[in-house]
Amino acid sequence: MSAIHLKNLTKSFGDFAALKTMDLEIADGEFMALLGPSGCGKSTTMNMIAGMEEPTSGKILFGERDMAGVPMGRRGVGFVFQNYAIFTHMSVRQNLAYGPRMRGAAKAEIDRRVCAIAEMLQLTPLLDRKADRLSVNILQRVAIGRSAIMEPAIFLLDEPLSNVDAAFRAVMRTELKQLQRQFRQTMVYVTHDQLEAMTMADRIAVMDHGVLQQVGTPLEVYNNPANVFVARFIGAPGMNLLRGRPAESDRGLVVDLGPLGVTPPLPDGLASTVRAMRGDVLYGFRPEQVTLAERGLSMRVSFVERIGARTIVHLGEGEGAVKAVFENDVGLSVGQTAVVAPPASSVRVFDATTGVSVKAG
Ligand code: ATP
Repeated sequence: MSAIHLKNLTKSFGDFAALKTMDLEIADGEFMALLGPSGCGKSTTMNMIAGMEEPTSGKILFGERDMAGVPMGRRGVGFVFQNYAIFTHMSVRQNLAYGPRMRGAAKAEIDRRVCAIAEMLQLTPLLDRKADRLSVNILQRVAIGRSAIMEPAIFLLDEPLSNVDAAFRAVMRTELKQLQRQFRQTMVYVTHDQLEAMTMADRIAVMDHGVLQQVGTPLEVYNNPANVFVARFIGAPGMNLLRGRPAESDRGLVVDLGPLGVTPPLPDGLASTVRAMRGDVLYGFRPEQVTLAERGLSMRVSFVERIGARTIVHLGEGEGAVKAVFENDVGLSVGQTAVVAPPASSVRVFDATTGVSVKAG
């Protein structure tokens, strides 16, 4: 069994708690991304799964088996780092063959596996090239191949694409996903790049400051963020969050956003939970879901970012600023006033004190 279970896992370096708490179950054959900003504890978690670091407390189980005291070499994990570790004096073929050769595999078997992995990673034409003459992009591909050829039941990748260029990264995202589909390993993938996590992972574990914030499918964390950290971190740009006070109106429960006016009524389920709360809320909506409307929030355009296929329009300022994503030819320019509205069904509400998402009743 190559399911991974992290139970109450913590890690401190002296007085500093790098991982404050982590409870996570990764299913056999699942692609799990650990996603979060720099320093949130992703690599620390990964290093403990690999056996490179000892947990301060808690357990790591592979299937039913407790990994406490089991050295890295006996865990059956393949590991690929940000900085490829390959032998530059060897050819690509020799690099790929290295692991199976060390394990004493027969030559025919090694040849078969090298050819298969080279084909999958588009390395076949480069098999006899010396590694020291290859680009960073290709070296990272060789590093992935060298680990993958061992067919580990658990494959750990720590920011493997952060040094490769953008075009190549897009190709590698597809290849890594195919690799995992083919071998069906349990894959844990550390990244701070949400695009990598969103495009490849079955589920994403979002982390911040050594704490797991939410675990869910890419769409779950995008559509229903558990708290304001996830709401802001997922999405490019992140979710708009406007502070306001719930208020009754003749149309239903609205949120009074002060100088910005009042929002359209909240959907019934959400309104009934918000009615039972005290204090301010954060009214959240995705920039991609904003439309230009007859009635809505009237806001001054402060900046227009044209990014090719789409245009990001910055509206308002300070705490009341929001972003809206429109088609590239949207006819808005700086200084104009735009009336914008998010569809009611896509609105999310958060408790302004705790930052936790408010669920519809
Ligand atoms: P990055 O993408 O920048 O590597 P990360 O989310 O992977 O970020 P970690 O490398 O897990 O973060 O580090 C989490 C925190 O623990 C950081 O503040 C880091 O400085 C600290 N840390 C990591 N390893 C050690 C160590 N050996 N000694 C002291 N502090 C450490």
